Amino acid sequence: MLTKRRVKIVATIGPSTSSEDGLRKCIEAGMNVARLNFSHGSHEDHKKVIHLIRKLSKELKAPVTILQDLQGPKIRVGKFEHGSIELKREQIVKLTTENILGKDGLIPLDFDGLPKVCFKGLRVLLDDGLLELEVIDSTETEIEAKVIHGGVLKDRKGLNVPGTTLPIQGMTEKDREDLKFGLEEEVDYVALSFVRSVNDLKDLRQIIKEKESSAKVISKIEMLEAVQNLEDIIKKSDAVMVARGDLAIEVGQSQLPGIQKRIVKLSNELNRPVITATQMLDSMVNNPRPTRAEVTDIANAVLDGTDALMLSAETASGKYPFRCIRTMHEISREVEKNSSAYYKINLGGSHLSIAESIAISACLTAQKLDATVIVCLTTTGKTAAMISRYRPKARIIALTHIISTLNRLEATWGIQTLPISPYGSSDEAMQLIEQKLLRYNLVKPKDRVILTYGSPVIQRAKTNTLRVYTIGEPDQNKESAETFPLRCQPLRPIDIIENE
Ligand code: PGA
Ligand code: MN
Repeated sequence: MLTKRRVKIVATIGPSTSSEDGLRKCIEAGMNVARLNFSHGSHEDHKKVIHLIRKLSKELKAPVTILQDLQGPKIRVGKFEHGSIELKREQIVKLTTENILGKDGLIPLDFDGLPKVCFKGLRVLLDDGLLELEVIDSTETEIEAKVIHGGVLKDRKGLNVPGTTLPIQGMTEKDREDLKFGLEEEVDYVALSFVRSVNDLKDLRQIIKEKESSAKVISKIEMLEAVQNLEDIIKKSDAVMVARGDLAIEVGQSQLPGIQKRIVKLSNELNRPVITATQMLDSMVNNPRPTRAEVTDIANAVLDGTDALMLSAETASGKYPFRCIRTMHEISREVEKNSSAYYKINLGGSHLSIAESIAISACLTAQKLDATVIVCLTTTGKTAAMISRYRPKARIIALTHIISTLNRLEATWGIQTLPISPYGSSDEAMQLIEQKLLRYNLVKPKDRVILTYGSPVIQRAKTNTLRVYTIGEPDQNKESAETFPLRCQPLRPIDIIENE
């Protein structure tokens, strides 16, 4: 069953996966979160994908979280007369803010403020750090630089100036337009690229509030400045992403592993979900099998406590998108058999809210009684998310009739969501749930189940109650597995999914 895995899988949608068939296969392979990368694609393309996912979710009874990833203030080179130029070692080149087509030795820039902050000796990296320049001189509008590492530079490639504070807004005009579109399409999460400090989140929060949206905010940690402001940024975000692609360029690759571990640990401590991203299965862009290093990278991220793992080019433009998702699923499942993945119960926090106290108690009770499942009757999903933070070994099952909550919770570690029709009392709800859990093979007779809910139920009160149930016998209602929610069905082999 897909639901057995606790760590969640984020897959970036692109040409390899954006058809209806592709999206269905992503969900069947194990995708929990679909990431729409707004550095590419038109609103029309993204809209089509969002609507298809919502439709497939319903059909397969498999909620999917939709994550809108905003490009943020990424500096790019402009376009060239012939689509690209070649940079040769030791060559002296000019970078200009003038709006022209580039040619041999001349590189247009899309950000006017860059030459002003450049100084002699500064390193400028191009195309994910593959090419490197060293600044010799700069004026208001031009930079003269020497090529240190050469190669082919294509149109619109990204540019990084590691460690430099740029006088640039946290959100560009394009980001604002994209965000407006995303909120209208009711995306569940919005990720902002190149966050440097909590200041960069203010406008994003403000726009979300103005639109009365319940979208959650993810800060992508990929700048040295963000690492320096890490604690504040995590506290002011709903979740964070270790965006290893740009982060490695900005901080220097040998700093990456240490910083990755620090971000994951601090996010765990501050009760914020964290996504580990970029190149996790990079070799599978072209090959059907991962390298040993990739297998171990995924396993270590899971052991370190990441909430979710992300695929980028692997699923957006790679040759084996569905196999990548399933490979991640299998590696995670294996690691999660290791008991050190569970019960990171931190009782340190003081002045816990009522719901938080119930959440901790549910996890402790489950541990003491060896309960198999913690069932959470929820409206906003808040209590279920809190329970997830303590990493119980008991499965967390969140039940609600609110579709947007079901979709959003799919991104959270360890949570399996199930829809439930309105109920009059907790006993009535538990009766419905007991038969559902038995039918879907999520519990066996005599299993202990912890239930959390808000009493009085009829008023949809906030969580204030914890009860322990023992599962009885199944009724005679034998539903066939094909009608189960997709993630409760027996796992279908990837060879079959791929070739359908
Ligand atoms: P990107 O972000 O793929 O949008 O650049 C992730 C990263 O930088 O790792
Ligand atoms: Mn990035």
